[in-house]
Amino acid sequence: MLADKDRIFTNVYGFQPWNLKAAQKRGDWDDTRALMALGQDQIIEIIKESGLRGRGGAGFPTGMKWSFMPKESKDGRPNFLVINADESEPGSCKDREIIRHDPHKLIEGALIAGFAMRARAAYIYIRGEFIREAETLFAAVQEAYDAGLLGKNAAGSGYDFDVFVHRGAGAYICGEETALLESLEGKKGQPRLKPPFPAGAGLYGCPTTVNNVESIAVTPTILRRGAAWFKGFGRENNHGTKLFQISGHVNKPCVVEEAMSIPFRELIDRHAGGIRGGWDNLLAVIPGGSSVPLVPAAQIMDAPMDFDGLRALGSGLGTAAVIVMDKSTDIVRAISRISYFYKHESCGQCTPCREGTGWMWRVMERLREGNAEIGEIDTLLDVTKQIEGHTICALGDAAAWPIQGLIRHFRPELERRIIEKQGDQLEAAE
Ligand code: NAD
Ligand code: SF4
Repeated sequence: MLADKDRIFTNVYGFQPWNLKAAQKRGDWDDTRALMALGQDQIIEIIKESGLRGRGGAGFPTGMKWSFMPKESKDGRPNFLVINADESEPGSCKDREIIRHDPHKLIEGALIAGFAMRARAAYIYIRGEFIREAETLFAAVQEAYDAGLLGKNAAGSGYDFDVFVHRGAGAYICGEETALLESLEGKKGQPRLKPPFPAGAGLYGCPTTVNNVESIAVTPTILRRGAAWFKGFGRENNHGTKLFQISGHVNKPCVVEEAMSIPFRELIDRHAGGIRGGWDNLLAVIPGGSSVPLVPAAQIMDAPMDFDGLRALGSGLGTAAVIVMDKSTDIVRAISRISYFYKHESCGQCTPCREGTGWMWRVMERLREGNAEIGEIDTLLDVTKQIEGHTICALGDAAAWPIQGLIRHFRPELERRIIEKQGDQLEAAE
């Protein structure tokens, strides 16, 4: 179990005020100038060595991403840091807690990360529905300006750096990094084709790194405590501490920071008070937010909660939003509801996603009611495979994967509904 002394987010429950004075007492903004004095290349090296992988879901190595940014502008284009605070993945609620209770970790991280990648400004794009969180963030940024921690000669470092907070308007797709950039530029939030990746052509066509809130907020602590300290948690390729968000049929839903790779059962018993009705009552778990396939109870019990451990089970760590479902769950209905979500949030730009998400949801609804033919299960599976990997952004995959997981693990349940319904119809006809 992660010791209290090793927690990065010491105010994640908001027991203390979020403001600058309280944040400084917790160690934030402690001689930030000395951290920046390490130099830009050294900061990137330390983040690389720490093994930090992006906390927004994809797990791309953070230090490597920073190193893609040009060291010198050849054509006058500035570098930008963009922080993705458009947390909208069903089940995910960690960035919200950071912004509510520990916003100065994010703002200090923005200065250090922005400096390391030679940016002069960071834009924090915050989810439109986060009204109170945006108020907190605006106020915290203002506090940092007033204290000389941002702006000209930020934190006495000799480096000028600005932070702008931009509110979204409530579209899930604007959490996709290139849709976010479009939205930030004032256009309709629709994903761009990649490549080019934002590091080559991002905000206003300039080199840009888009990082998740948690990825940026942990960087000052990594620099203060050292790469080896952070790397000491978890296992090879899966390092550090991580905010897990545990929801659903547990006794105490919570957001908790733990060591990466903690086994699932330990995570739930230690922090969420166990499964409602006991461990025998567990049906399945969606371990990383709604985009990743579910894992049945028997397979997840001892699984390490990390990128590789969950990938080995055909799922993923994603945002570490752990959605627990006990045996009272109508699993077909649950996945059908997720299908509806993706249908609703599709930006409509590419045909497999625009048409496919609606089609899949309609078939899912018929399967839920048992109003389908057995053969349609394979047709549905086939369609998910034709959507997967054939769309502009990952929303197509995210819509396909939960259905694939359902069919992989709960095909007998889908068949049972169809057979029972056909039996009922035969009985009624006789
Ligand atoms: P991705 O793998 O395409 O990219 C991850 C990051 O690495 C991006 O910033 C991308 O620019 C960068 N990258 C990847 N390859 C690169 C290359 N060759 N050169 C330069 N940069 C490169 O994934 P994605 O589409 O950005 O994100 C998908 C993930 O988002 C899913 O796994 C899902 O879990 C997560 N997600 C999170 C939320 C949320 O609310 N936090 C919402 C929806 C989805
Ligand atoms: Fe839009 Fe869906 Fe295509 Fe993504 S996959 S660009 S959400 S239509």
